[in-house]
Amino acid sequence: MKISDIPKELEEIRTEGRFRKVRDLRMITASRGVDREGKEYIVFNSNDYLGMTHEKEVEEAVRNAIAYGTGSGGARLTSGAVFELSDLEKEIAAFKHKEDAVIFNTGYMTNLGVLYALAGPGDVIFSDALNHASIVDGCRISKAAVKVYPHSDMKALEKLLHETETEGQRFIVTDGVFSMDGDVADLPSLVKLKEIYNACLIVDDAHATGVIGETGRGTAEYYHMEGIDIQVGTLSKSLGSEGGFAAASRQITDYLRNRSRPFIFSTSISAATGAAALAALRLLERNPETYMGALRRNTGYMKEKLTEANIPFLPGDTSIIPIVMGREEAAMEYAARCRERGILLSAIRPPSVPAGTSRIRLTVTAAHTREELDRAVKVMKECFIEDC
Ligand SMILES: *Cc1c(COP(=O)(O)O)cnc(C)c1O
Repeated sequence: MKISDIPKELEEIRTEGRFRKVRDLRMITASRGVDREGKEYIVFNSNDYLGMTHEKEVEEAVRNAIAYGTGSGGARLTSGAVFELSDLEKEIAAFKHKEDAVIFNTGYMTNLGVLYALAGPGDVIFSDALNHASIVDGCRISKAAVKVYPHSDMKALEKLLHETETEGQRFIVTDGVFSMDGDVADLPSLVKLKEIYNACLIVDDAHATGVIGETGRGTAEYYHMEGIDIQVGTLSKSLGSEGGFAAASRQITDYLRNRSRPFIFSTSISAATGAAALAALRLLERNPETYMGALRRNTGYMKEKLTEANIPFLPGDTSIIPIVMGREEAAMEYAARCRERGILLSAIRPPSVPAGTSRIRLTVTAAHTREELDRAVKVMKECFIEDC
């Protein structure tokens, strides 16, 4: 685009009511934040599902690792190969029942890095219509052909797999838990299809790790099965840090370290950042019931209270609670009213979700107290907008 066209474009975004600004918020606990004016909020739009960002042991691990530098100093193949990341790779691999894992700097970069490195001309990627933007972008830069199937429609996927001729590799890529609706991918069908069509199955468990499965291992554990070839995930959600990972066979991870440009050409996350994720992972592995139990109980309690308050939400097995409003303005207005009263919720609108399904996306975490949940439901009930 022409730089001189930017003012016009910005005006258009404003006219559509879609101009967005960053609002500063300082998290003082895993569930409470304050803004620059000192106003305090209970936060229901964070992906810190297990409250790991403020756990004492995680903080302690970061304080200790700061001794090894505030930054890593370089990419891991050339410099900056901090111990914590190699340790984390081993432990994540074990957690995900894979031979090995590779850490990338963000979950976003992980999807780009995996698809860019593995899928090329002649290959075909079959991608769910509601996949995360990082998967969409990974498909775009991969140079492979991309076939998008309607959301979780296994019949449509099978038809596409059947009618697509290729000499190259087939990839099926999907979110494990879909970020906007909180629904879980149909792993049993995906594994069946990938076997029939000899495809490589990539599942992005960004919202599944530490959220579903009895011990938080994600989509595979939720269904009590294996069969995922490459497990993508992030360190930035339930693991309370920053970064992403791909867990797979050692041959695939070795290949990624040698061929994935986002891995090779970017300075790695620091020892402290890796140490935070490692400490969080260990906490979860040692006390699955403490964390997963709190998350389940809080989510169940919240859903019960929302039902009592006659606030409709989409059903599901995760801690993502979508309250579909319909009109964009209604979702925006509802979020604004709740914000005014100290409850932070996200209004999600097109293009993040289809037109006419604008919604509030509420996330419950293990860190919320009963009082905070009660307070939120009271405010949400009083501010509710009948729109649907
Ligand atoms: C959040 C998310 C990502 C991106 O992870 P970051 O660590 O925030 O970059 C990737 N995939 C899915 C499905 C996500 O929800």
